[in-house]
Amino acid sequence: MDPQLDHRIVMCNGRSEQTDGEYVLYWMAFNRRPENNFSLQIAVDKAIALNKPLLILETLWLDYPNASARFHKFVLDGMKDNERAFRKSSVTYIGYVERDVALRERLLQKLASNACLVVTDAFPCEHMETLIKELNRLTSVSILAVDSNGILPVMVPEKAFTTAYSFRRYLQKNLHEHLLCFPRITPCSGQVLPKAPDVSSLGLTAWGCVDGNSSIISANLKSLPINHAVPPATLSGGRRAGLEILKEFVSFKLRNYASQRNSIDECSASGLSPYLHFGHISSHDIFTAVMQKVGWTPACLHHDNVSGKRLGWWGLDEDVESFLDQLITWREIGFNAAYKLNNFDKYESLPVWAKTTLADHELDLRTHLYQIHELENAETHDEIWNAAQRQLVKEGRMHNYLRMLWGKKVLEWSRSSQEALERLIYLNNKYALDGNNPNSYSGIFWCFGRYDRAWGPERPIFGKVRYMTSKNTARKLRLAEYLSRYQRREPLEV
Ligand SMILES: Cc1cc2nc3c(=O)[nH]c(=O)nc-3n(C[C@H](O)[C@H](O)[C@H](O)COP(=O)(O)OP(=O)(O)OC[C@H]3O[C@@H](n4cnc5c(N)ncnc54)[C@H](O)[C@@H]3O)c2cc1C
Repeated sequence: MDPQLDHRIVMCNGRSEQTDGEYVLYWMAFNRRPENNFSLQIAVDKAIALNKPLLILETLWLDYPNASARFHKFVLDGMKDNERAFRKSSVTYIGYVERDVALRERLLQKLASNACLVVTDAFPCEHMETLIKELNRLTSVSILAVDSNGILPVMVPEKAFTTAYSFRRYLQKNLHEHLLCFPRITPCSGQVLPKAPDVSSLGLTAWGCVDGNSSIISANLKSLPINHAVPPATLSGGRRAGLEILKEFVSFKLRNYASQRNSIDECSASGLSPYLHFGHISSHDIFTAVMQKVGWTPACLHHDNVSGKRLGWWGLDEDVESFLDQLITWREIGFNAAYKLNNFDKYESLPVWAKTTLADHELDLRTHLYQIHELENAETHDEIWNAAQRQLVKEGRMHNYLRMLWGKKVLEWSRSSQEALERLIYLNNKYALDGNNPNSYSGIFWCFGRYDRAWGPERPIFGKVRYMTSKNTARKLRLAEYLSRYQRREPLEV
């Protein structure tokens, strides 16, 4: 195995592979895709080395944080694509839609104990850590968790970075070697593996497993005990939809990324964050599509330009470099925090200067104070904020610039900064299709000073934390059409 891959593998226990097992099990929990997926690649390689079948179990649990019809539907769209993609290969794919949490233990036990080893996805969140611990307790099988989250393996840096500047400098010194170690695009293609036992012989269908012949989408969403008050969004999930959006982005929007990312009517942002969050596409997919479009090779890198500045290292124009800065620096600093800091999602993890200045202003007069249901129902005095909140509730997304304003305003309208933080986490992770991600926390915590510096003059409530106003936003952006699209037509009633 490529020694570079060692940086991506976490041995979850000290057990060795059981060579007399029936198959290699890849438990697909976060990298929900058949391509550009290190976990799948390693599972395929293990199956080849052991000359065993490869069984892929993609799980959709009932009790992930904020489980709702919206998130379920997005994942189910992806399962449908995956079922189709794997049908053509020699691996066996099982899309498991959980209907009863009580059956989980038996399912995992049954599948894992017949395996030579289990390969799964490393993702920095409590739910996944708990599930891996559970699997460890239930079986005596070797478990490998593989990090396929970003271009830089999360285990490589030794510390948590506190500014984008310092992380970028680190990347400019260290990223080049990881640009040479991408996953194989289609790890299953051309591989002839022994046939896995069929799903019915494992007795799994009774537990809500769907084999390659039935339609996953027929899983009756309405009957599942999840939050149906957050209904499916109109945006389709899945790899096929994600790749279409990527294609359109690279063909038409990338060339205006720097100048129009903040534009509301002609926004050049990619819209890919939900697909990244659910693992339907990877940053390797996006990086490759972008770099192929602009004809980049590693020889273009300006190795000597280790300045920590946003532009000038890749040897590309401003649009592409600005995009890569979001995709790599900003996205991966969030994973760095989630991996390195136990309390990355807690108020205490804010920088000391930010906590101090917010505490100094805790007793400042708040002209507008809202209850959580007023925020949730977009019933504030601020029409820009209300429109952004309505977009979030209805569509599961929000324009990036407005998202910053949205967060800053909740700080202004809550009784304390801790309360504001809790409210933002609640609203973002309940409704946003890209929510419940390390970058949910970096985005929200940025509103309170994370990765930022102190600003002057000192303001009421915010202190030295960067301040934003709806008035300035209205001056900067053309909002008329957006406001009319998301104006209050009927109460949201959430
Ligand atoms: C209050 C608040 C909450 C946020 N919550 C989330 C969240 O739940 N999930 C999430 O993925 N991002 C979150 N962000 C960051 C950012 O708003 C989104 O990543 C971005 O708007 C996604 O749109 P896009 O895919 O069109 O981005 P593009 O501009 O096309 O960027 C490409 C990719 O780069 C990454 N990226 C872009 N901007 C940022 C950023 N500021 N921080 C981290 N990564 C970034 C994303 O993965 C994105 O898909 C939040 C920001 C704020 C201010």
